[in-house]
Amino acid sequence: MASTLIAVDDAIQHMLSAVAPLQRFEVVDLMAAAGRVLAEDQIASCYVPPADNSAMDGYALRFADAKAPLPISQRVAAGQASQPLRPGTCARIFTGAEIPLGADTVVMQEEIVLTAFDDVCVPSDIRIGQNIRPKGQDIQAGQCIIKAGTRLDYRHLGLLASVGIAQVSVFLPIRVVLLSTGDELVQPGEPLKAGQIYNSNRFLLQGFLQSQGVEVVRFIQVRDRFEETLTALEDAADSADLVISTGGVSVGEEDHVKPAVEALGQLSVWRLAMKPGKPLAFGHVKDTPFIGLPGNPVSTFVGAHVFVLPLLKRLAGESASSSSLRLVGRAQFSVTTQIRQEYVRVKATWQEGQWCLSAYPNQNSGVLSSAVWGNAMAIIPPATQVVEGSEVSFVFYTTPNPDSN
Ligand code: AMP
Ligand code: MG
Repeated sequence: MASTLIAVDDAIQHMLSAVAPLQRFEVVDLMAAAGRVLAEDQIASCYVPPADNSAMDGYALRFADAKAPLPISQRVAAGQASQPLRPGTCARIFTGAEIPLGADTVVMQEEIVLTAFDDVCVPSDIRIGQNIRPKGQDIQAGQCIIKAGTRLDYRHLGLLASVGIAQVSVFLPIRVVLLSTGDELVQPGEPLKAGQIYNSNRFLLQGFLQSQGVEVVRFIQVRDRFEETLTALEDAADSADLVISTGGVSVGEEDHVKPAVEALGQLSVWRLAMKPGKPLAFGHVKDTPFIGLPGNPVSTFVGAHVFVLPLLKRLAGESASSSSLRLVGRAQFSVTTQIRQEYVRVKATWQEGQWCLSAYPNQNSGVLSSAVWGNAMAIIPPATQVVEGSEVSFVFYTTPNPDSN
């Protein structure tokens, strides 16, 4: 019934307000910090660069002295300490070397002329301060360079290293227990008997979670029995920060996840106005957050991006916006939505100054090939008619490949 469906954005907001970042931290070496979420603001204790230094190989001098030929009174290479510059002289200097006290200008070596006495003559069009990188031009001591809640990548590691930080406090990774429900499921590598299918969701989800820095601590295969579902959920909740199940959240006779979660905790979200993935559940098993994704592989895939990802970010302490970057593209397909928001698997290609979105021909929630063929999801709000040429919003779920146009 239309009135019982919950809007996707409302469900996400509800979910995010029902959980808090896990307050567990560890200190790691900078080299091991990529992919981790920073627990504390990082304050620089030094200037970058620590002193004025030369941007060129050349000669450092006082601008006021520049008219007369200048004898060379010292030589400063990168890594060496300099002496105060004697008035009326210049210093031979190299890129990255500290500017001697008193010098205010560097002339590059290609621009000078040496006299017969090896004194340095500089051109008349030099500017005071040229070719000097001033102390602190990048970072000032006392400045916050990276805020808590940032997921660190190689850029942050470089910046942290530039101020001498060797270790950082980070949030511990989230521990997830994965449950697959369904008597029909068989692990890849096993023979397939009549009535059985291979468990694809387990691998899809585990790979997705690992790519997000999550520790998948356990996997439990659950048969379609109420008691077994109850026991599995209870065990999972004891060893996880988040329990994720697939399948069994519908209202069929063999769907035991909903009553089992309700017996152990509570279920907050149940039927969503989205396609694919209507029967998606969120709640708590005991005190552990729980997400129940529908069993169809594309529903699991879409649910992972739309629901699991923002939840992971919140639990992980990440301050970044919980939603993925939305872009606008031109549809090369048509679709008319009813009361549900639809996530259409598309291939986005850059053509003549805009993103063009072609849809995989079979959008059935059992067709996982659509996710591999495509690189993005077009998001079509409820009650919308999209025709070829309509502008629609979309999110990439993988990096676009220019060769796959
Ligand atoms: P359910 O949500 O349990 O009703 O499952 C919906 C559909 O998804 C059924 O056709 C299931 O066989 C299929 N399904 C459930 N779990 C998985 C899984 N882990 N891998 C592949 N297909 C699944
Ligand atoms: Mg099932």
